[in-house]
Amino acid sequence: MTTSQDCSHLPPPGINQAYCHVSALEGGMMQFPSASFVTPANPEEVKMVPSLAFLITHAQTGERLLFDLGIRKDINTLPPTAAQDAASFIGNWSLEEAIENVPNALAKGGLKPGDISRICLSHCHFDHIGDPALYSNARFIVGERTREILENGYPKDPKSEFASDLSPESRTEYLRFSGEKCVRMGPFERALDLYGDGSLYVVDTPGHLPGHVSLLARTSADGAWLLLAGDLAHDCRLLHGTAKIASVTVQGPNGESIVDCAHADQPMAERTIVAVQEFMKLEMTEVIIAHDAEWYAVNKGGEYFWPGKISPRRSEHVHQ
Ligand SMILES: [Zn+2]
Repeated sequence: MTTSQDCSHLPPPGINQAYCHVSALEGGMMQFPSASFVTPANPEEVKMVPSLAFLITHAQTGERLLFDLGIRKDINTLPPTAAQDAASFIGNWSLEEAIENVPNALAKGGLKPGDISRICLSHCHFDHIGDPALYSNARFIVGERTREILENGYPKDPKSEFASDLSPESRTEYLRFSGEKCVRMGPFERALDLYGDGSLYVVDTPGHLPGHVSLLARTSADGAWLLLAGDLAHDCRLLHGTAKIASVTVQGPNGESIVDCAHADQPMAERTIVAVQEFMKLEMTEVIIAHDAEWYAVNKGGEYFWPGKISPRRSEHVHQ
């Protein structure tokens, strides 16, 4: 069987190739019951996981972009349904202990929220959106289908976990993955070149929640790539192929069957994970998911966190 050549490689570096530095940011801690996310799983296993955000600095222009904003300091300002969710995932720790919010993480390297010019949100679950109001100079970039979630969000729908005023409309761009600016990037069918110089791509990675996107950063001038993968998977076992996405059928309030899964569209999420597995086979590539407990255990407090940066091509951290 042959695969299309387009699927098997990413664009090679050009002369004076632009690239980006990526720094991890502490966005808070959560507890994940493994059985809610992967199967097979020990029903007793609860993993403490980070909610990672990332600072992306364009190496040539110095422009600062954030990918995700972690958990906000005061979860009670979320819509009630999201605040409930947040309390259950944060668990018994005091919030002060659980939440190292992104503004604090930025300050460790002398940055303020006002220094950020763009923010790309992988999707609008509470543990990724931080407090957008703090970033007064930033333009927000989200996947096109985020619009439908926000338009029908809280308070129009009092039960919605998504606030319809999540980001200021005048500073929010809903990215469409179509038209001539939309390109294939290796195994990913749709991506947009954010700066127009091949240094950073927003990648359509559907399945988890409508509008879910990832960021693909070129992290060196000689061909290294880092995929910041948000919630396309919640556990590395899914990327390694040693577990599958969990879903359980539960009975709804009116006796109806409801499939309970961490992903809004499980078959689509499975296809997205297959694309990531293909990406991981390519040379000089690395993937970090937002709740990557294993990556965090190795790197917590280390040089990969701002004001440090993630070194390209550190093979011991590449998911094989
Ligand atoms: Zn999510």
